[in-house]
Amino acid sequence: VIDLHTHTDQSDGTDSPAELVDLARGRNLEALAITDHDTLAGYDLAAPAAAACGLDLVCGVEVSTRLGAPPPPGARRSSIHLLAYFPVAAPSREFRDWLLKWQRARRERNLRLIARLNALGVEIALEEVEAIGKYMTGRPHFARILVQKGHAGSIQDAFNRYLADGAQASVERDEPELFEAIAAVREMGGIPSLAHPMRLPEAASPSALEELVRRARGHGLGGIEVYYTDHTAAHTELLAGIASKLGLVATGGSDYHGENKPGIFLGSGRGPLKIEKRVLDRLRAAAVNS
Ligand code: AMP
Ligand code: FE
Ligand code: FE
Ligand code: ZN
Repeated sequence: VIDLHTHTDQSDGTDSPAELVDLARGRNLEALAITDHDTLAGYDLAAPAAAACGLDLVCGVEVSTRLGAPPPPGARRSSIHLLAYFPVAAPSREFRDWLLKWQRARRERNLRLIARLNALGVEIALEEVEAIGKYMTGRPHFARILVQKGHAGSIQDAFNRYLADGAQASVERDEPELFEAIAAVREMGGIPSLAHPMRLPEAASPSALEELVRRARGHGLGGIEVYYTDHTAAHTELLAGIASKLGLVATGGSDYHGENKPGIFLGSGRGPLKIEKRVLDRLRAAAVNS
């Protein structure tokens, strides 16, 4: 059993990279991919620990992208998550620089988010949020501080009141276009795979979803996440069908975030998830042949 979609405390998970490696060993995983949001810091820190204990660790990252025409003023496009895997060769300097660009865009968004919150009378400083967010300070970290300071009753309440897309403090972040990100990952030696496709608005219609995936494949998409914590048997079947029809690698993982997503376990998701090692073998073969 393997898990190709996990987060450490270098993005919005709660386990340190070394703890995640230990957990993977403890659960007898044959391979683990770390796919933190917008950063390779978790993978980089985990790599020595994984090598020391003989765990097959795969380098990955989950990038937030947007799709389609710029929205009218006030409206916004939903975020589409793209996984990038480097299962054979380490990512290039060029790819790391490309990620840094989006990390800077995130920090710039965070500064504007602080300004919005301050204007709304919430006393909050970026340093406080970055102290818990490290390299990938995101809205979940803002939410925790808002709860700590009594501005919201829970993380979800903080999103509803202030942070959700369209809520009163919401500000846009500069993110790559989906198709450009797919092409960029591919050019820089990675295998791009569409994360949790059932969350896309297009997933409401199987033919619309297939059409989107077909377009993405035209730009270099190499895989789609067929096996996933929240997929029903029907979802898995639908996505496996699209993958085989379009010649894409089926990837899969739990989206483990530690205590930030309680009830989702490494390797097994909410219990029944079971991803076979041959899923990684196929991903590796695709990387070698690309
Ligand atoms: P960021 O990347 O900083 O924009 O934060 C995005 C993260 O915030 C997502 O991965 C979710 O975990 C969380 N998030 C976004 N919108 C909501 C929402 N409406 N309710 C709860 N969590 C949310
Ligand atoms: Fe996350
Ligand atoms: Fe995601
Ligand atoms: Zn994820």
